[in-house]
Amino acid sequence: TVRTRVAPSPTGDPHVGTAYIALFNLCFARAHGGQFLLRIEDTDQVRSTPESEQAILDSLRWLGLDWDEGPDVGGEHGPYRQSERMELYGEYARQLVEEGKAFICYRTGEELDALREARRAAGNSMALKPSDLKLPDDEVARREAAGEPYVIRMLVPEEEGRCEIDDMLRGTIELDWNLVDAQVLLKSDGMPTYHLANVVDDHLMGITHVLRGEEWINSAPKHKLLYEYFGWEMPRLCHLPLLRNPDKSKLSKRKNPTSILYYQRMGFLPEALLNYLGRMGWSMPDEREKFSLEDMLGAFDIQRVSLGGPIFDVEKLRWLNGLWMREDLDTEQLAQRLVNWALNADNLRKVLPHAQKRMETLSDFAPLAAFLVSGTLPITEESFAAVKGEREDVVRGLQFALWRMEALRHWNRDAIWNELKTLADAEGVKVKDFLAPVFIAIAGTSASFSVVDSMELLGPDMSRARLRHAIE
Ligand code: ATP
Ligand code: GLU
Repeated sequence: TVRTRVAPSPTGDPHVGTAYIALFNLCFARAHGGQFLLRIEDTDQVRSTPESEQAILDSLRWLGLDWDEGPDVGGEHGPYRQSERMELYGEYARQLVEEGKAFICYRTGEELDALREARRAAGNSMALKPSDLKLPDDEVARREAAGEPYVIRMLVPEEEGRCEIDDMLRGTIELDWNLVDAQVLLKSDGMPTYHLANVVDDHLMGITHVLRGEEWINSAPKHKLLYEYFGWEMPRLCHLPLLRNPDKSKLSKRKNPTSILYYQRMGFLPEALLNYLGRMGWSMPDEREKFSLEDMLGAFDIQRVSLGGPIFDVEKLRWLNGLWMREDLDTEQLAQRLVNWALNADNLRKVLPHAQKRMETLSDFAPLAAFLVSGTLPITEESFAAVKGEREDVVRGLQFALWRMEALRHWNRDAIWNELKTLADAEGVKVKDFLAPVFIAIAGTSASFSVVDSMELLGPDMSRARLRHAIE
């Protein structure tokens, strides 16, 4: 049976690209009566966080993308979190060493830099090969005896030639072996790299088809070799075109919000966002623009994916969302959505402590809370007329604030305050002056909660979007 998977790394906000890849994997599996899995690739222990993992699971669920097996639902091929499978990867790496398909490498970081530098100086773009990395036997013995750190690297062909990769959409892709380096499989701390863990798990989890972003095409030769080394059948590969900004560059948060949480916070309907993602490189046989997941499943054919880079255009998404709002929700349903989205008791309990001290009548609530339930605010240069300083300095301050807020992992008022205070001190301005433009960017002018409270309530995605909007 067909088994597909989505394998996100929990290192940041849930990306719309992850949902797009998940959607196509789900459709492909269902269209063939198969199963769709979710696997968490958290081998990068420094960058992976449980919060990010939770946000990814919640976001995909919110969109209605359900998996048959995964870290939260279990299954026969678990655990589905790579951090819980660590001992496995070491065993497979050592097996390859014993069979002479991988080798222990004691090269230090400085030595590697020097090797690469020598390459560059000679105008040679070839990747580092096993023969480059090999040390004399006595040197290996010396480093081993001294207990120096080592990695395990895979053997790769040294001779010229091309590797052929079969892609379900692209046919045969040829890649130069020249460019394939002796990839590290197991790092000196015993952690696997993506390549090893991904191949081992796809095999052990019975994955038959790998649908993933085209940024992984260059990794395919390494994966193909690993499957050969292990004597395993390789899943069929299908590299989907990457989502793009309206200017055709790769979708990036500098130009477009990429976090699913932003679209949620902005009040998009999950069925509309899913519909839009379904139109990324794919179309219904009758070319209709509005369709449900059910419709898509009924008509799915992977060969209908077109390789021209699909453009993720927020304006187009708004338009489609409007169709869903008007055509698919009656008043009762819309009321329910609105209540769940904005006016639920949880939200009110968070906002009211700040609003209450500023309220004399119930009707004072709406203007106080308006900025929290709005999308982007109608902010222009004029909005900043009353703040001190030149436009340039205002923009600079906001840009610094934005960078800090983008890097902030734990979103709470104290953390936000610390970041902004540190920035103000570094800039040598009073916190109050530094915060004035931030306040306008975040809340427009009408609200009167403190700016850090406002940012905590708004959440990271909307706060960042507003800062970005204010300096555009
Ligand atoms: P970077 O600029 O470093 O590549 P990013 O914004 O692409 O960062 P990542 O954290 O690398 O974000 O990617 C998160 C997930 O989203 C990955 O699974 C990646 O495959 C997917 N993804 C990122 N960008 C795109 C895109 N343009 N189209 C489709 N999927 C994407
Ligand atoms: N963990 C990888 C990612 O985040 C998975 C890539 C793949 O599907 O092989 O994109």
